[in-house]
This record gives sequence, C-alpha cells and structure tokens, in this order.
Amino acid sequence: MRAWMEIDMDNLQYNIEKIKELSGNSEIICVVKANCYGMGAVEVVKEMVSHGINFFGIASFEEGLELRQNNINAEMLVLGSLFDDEIEGSIKEGFHVSINTIEQLEFIKENKLDAKVHLKVDTGMGRIGFVEEDLESAYDYCQKNNIQVTGIYSHLSDADIDTKDSYNYTINQINKFSKIEQMEKYKNVRHFHIFNSGAIVRYSDEIVGNAVRPGLCMYGMLGNERINGFKSVFAMKGRVIYKRTVHEKTPISYSRTASIEAGETFATISVGYADGLKREFSNNMYVLVHGEKCPIIGNICMDMSIIKLPLSIYSKVKIGDEVTIYTDDIIKDIKCASTCSWEILTGIGRRVYRIYKKNGKNYKTVRWISEN
Ligand SMILES: *Cc1c(COP(=O)(O)O)cnc(C)c1O
Repeated sequence: MRAWMEIDMDNLQYNIEKIKELSGNSEIICVVKANCYGMGAVEVVKEMVSHGINFFGIASFEEGLELRQNNINAEMLVLGSLFDDEIEGSIKEGFHVSINTIEQLEFIKENKLDAKVHLKVDTGMGRIGFVEEDLESAYDYCQKNNIQVTGIYSHLSDADIDTKDSYNYTINQINKFSKIEQMEKYKNVRHFHIFNSGAIVRYSDEIVGNAVRPGLCMYGMLGNERINGFKSVFAMKGRVIYKRTVHEKTPISYSRTASIEAGETFATISVGYADGLKREFSNNMYVLVHGEKCPIIGNICMDMSIIKLPLSIYSKVKIGDEVTIYTDDIIKDIKCASTCSWEILTGIGRRVYRIYKKNGKNYKTVRWISEN
C-alpha cells in the first residue's frame, strides 16, 4: 500500500456525541457530501446509521444515489441546487430536495411530483436560495399547489471566522433566520436549520432552528484548528520509497526551489499532489517519520514528494517506513495562507486507500481497485 487514510470510527462517534450535547435537542443532519469529506461516504454513513443517525446532507443527486445503491435507506437532503431531471430522480429515491427558485416549484407542480421540499433562503451567504422577500411567495405557491414543505433553511458564511465583523454578521444571519422560524405562517414546517460546524462549535448559546448540519466538526476540526474536547479521527499516511545522503549541495525536485547541503539526507515518499498532498504546501509543511517532524523540501510532485530527514533519524529510516502526511495537528501547522482543511480532506485522491478502525483495530479496507 503506497498511500492510505486511517479513520477512527470510535473517535468519530465520540465527536458526534459532543455535537449532540452542543446542539441541545436538535435533530442531527450529518453532512456527508464529497465522499464524506474524503473519509469514504458508504462506510462512514453505514457506521453513523448504526449509531442512530438517520438524516444526511448530500451535495448532489448522485451522491445520494451512491448511498442508496449501498442499501442505505436513511433520510437525505440534497443541499445543492438541482436541475429538473435531478429533482425527478431525487424524489424517486425519496430524498428531500432543496428548492431555490420558483421555476423548480413549477416543475414539481407540472409533473405532479410527490416532493419533500426544503425551501432555501439566503440570509447573507450570497450563493443560492430565495432572497428573504421572496420566501413567503414561494411558500404560498407550495401551499396553493399541494407541495409539501418539510423544511426551511439557510446557510452561514462566516461562522468559523474569529473576528468581530464575522461575529456580527453571523449573529445578524442567525437573527434573521430566527424571525423566519417564528412566523405563524410556517408553524407546520417540520425542519428549520442554519447551523453548520462553525455555528455548532462557536454559537451553541445562540442556537436557532430544530436541526443542525455538522460537517467538518465531526472530524475534530474547524477551519485549520483542532476543536477543544473533540478527538482526532483521521490520519493520512504514505511510505518512504527512497533515501540518499548527499556528498555535495544538491538541488531538490522540479524547478529546484530547495536544496540540501553536503552530508544531509533526503527521503522520497510515495505521496504527491494526485493523492491530495497539495502542491502549494511545497516547502511549507512537515510530515512525521518515526515521530519526528521532517520538512517537505522542493516542489511536491504528482506521485512523490521529498523530505529532509533530521540527523536524529537519518540512519534509522528504511525503505517502506510509514510516513504520516496529514493529521489534524499537521494541518494546523501548515504554513500556507490558503490552507483550508475542508479543501485538503475533500481533495484526498482516489488512489488513497481508506482503512476503518474500531477498538484500535482495522476492520475494513476500501481499495480503489478490487482485490482480484
Ligand atoms: C457543507 C455544508 C454544511 C456543512 O458545513 P461544515 O462547515 O463542514 O459543517 C452545512 N450546510 C450546507 C448547506 C453545506 O453546504
């Protein structure tokens, strides 16, 4: 195995319990889009279902279909905006659909589809959803045409950001949504939700709605920081494939952005940007070998990267030794302004095997090719 991701299901479950505590009596809609933030949607969702989670947020019709094809029958809400054929497919699978335009409602009406609609309202995200003034008429249209509105929801743009300005903006969005939730008109709507990870972790005193949509925080992170009191869930690993002690100053990798001095040792590892080790992290991060921090030197390549071995371990390192590429602690320390743990995790490549652990033991390995 050249590259793999270890996922600790016990710690994941621990974090979900924490999220439940922070969210009071809210229903949990676990957001498992983008292959469950790179963790592997099918296995992770199956595990969550076995712990009583029965509502999931997905980005697209196809993501839901993958789960259905793996016999996962839980409730699902498609968070993205759907084209007509996807609305039809989603409804056939029993998914709740997010509705952002009157045209989508007209399609549902004209085709007499038995939809479970969540109206999306834009309280300040500036992405998709009805503007606030249009929400009521969208709701009225549903009432008039017998379209079942099971939810009204919105999304926060700044909940994870730690500035006064972002705080004010978030509180304003929360208040706007709270007003909508309290309207007599919507008293028969089952689900109201606006809280994402940032809000669950940082605004639990201000909670509104009766459901929350945690994504990243399930893995113990928010932005590029670890969440206090949450456990580590993932570790991406690779191996040493080559090692050399140089006898003269030696340039390293494409474009020679780094070099090492005579007497120093580099090792080449089996993971590159095609596996999700982002090229912009070249010369900006470390990985762990035998527990020691080893800086990535030179440009990260598609399938390999080069690290400098500290004197303390250079003689000990052998071909095949394990290298820890990404953990929450490593991500926290990456020296690159654009680091974004959502992007890192969802960018972990197809070649990277996913290994699931419980009680400290591996119980399942999902490979990108079948074994036979
Ligand atoms: C991705 C997403 C979430 C989860 O976001 P996190 O910040 O990872 O918790 C919640 N709601 C919507 C609409 C999303 O697109």
